[in-house]
Amino acid sequence: VPNCNRALAALKEAVLEATLALPASGLATQTWGNVSGVARDAAAVVIKPSGVPYDQLTTDSLVVLSLDGERLEGDLRPSSDAPTHLALYRSFPELGGIVHTHSRWATVWAQAERPIPPLGTTHADYFDGEIPCTRALTPDECREGYEDATGRAIVETFAGCDPLRVPGVLVRRHGPFAWARDVPTARENAQVLEEVAELAVHTLMLAPGVGAMSPALLDRHFTRKHGAAAYYGQP
Ligand SMILES: [Zn+2]
Repeated sequence: VPNCNRALAALKEAVLEATLALPASGLATQTWGNVSGVARDAAAVVIKPSGVPYDQLTTDSLVVLSLDGERLEGDLRPSSDAPTHLALYRSFPELGGIVHTHSRWATVWAQAERPIPPLGTTHADYFDGEIPCTRALTPDECREGYEDATGRAIVETFAGCDPLRVPGVLVRRHGPFAWARDVPTARENAQVLEEVAELAVHTLMLAPGVGAMSPALLDRHFTRKHGAAAYYGQP
């Protein structure tokens, strides 16, 4: 199927580019971050291999998985977080790309087990409400099927909510996942989540009782950038 192959080749380029942008933008050091993208027509997920230094990554070293985790292409083992990514793609059909990092300020919130409240328009431009924190995993979930359970805990957190309106989450005691309809936007959302997390820590240090911004201001900023009535930027 030539169209599927072209789509997969383009997806590999996008995943590689977003992966290499993680250390460049300060979101990841060592080999901590991972990026994936899904080609829905081919039912194929492209993901970073496990433990390979960023400067050795090429499109050929990326791993292609089915949505159930069967390896379709690639010689290397996929990122150990692959089952989390797959759980999200299976449950959220609108997602096209996912970025997971341990970026510093978002991880501070995750370790504190605190959702990030919307405190200003930087947050509201990208997230239509607080960025939630997942529940604690049970001891059994930590021992067996841990990465898949992490994905299921994220899905539970978004029950009844549109994951594209709040395109990221804090995994409790772990770190952030961000996503979008495509891989470059997922990477952008991961970057913004980190910025918002840092702003929120400092805002609450300066004004511990400040509370969330008004719903009207939140809604104005989110809807002017997203959805049918968006008018931010150039048409
Ligand atoms: Zn992690």
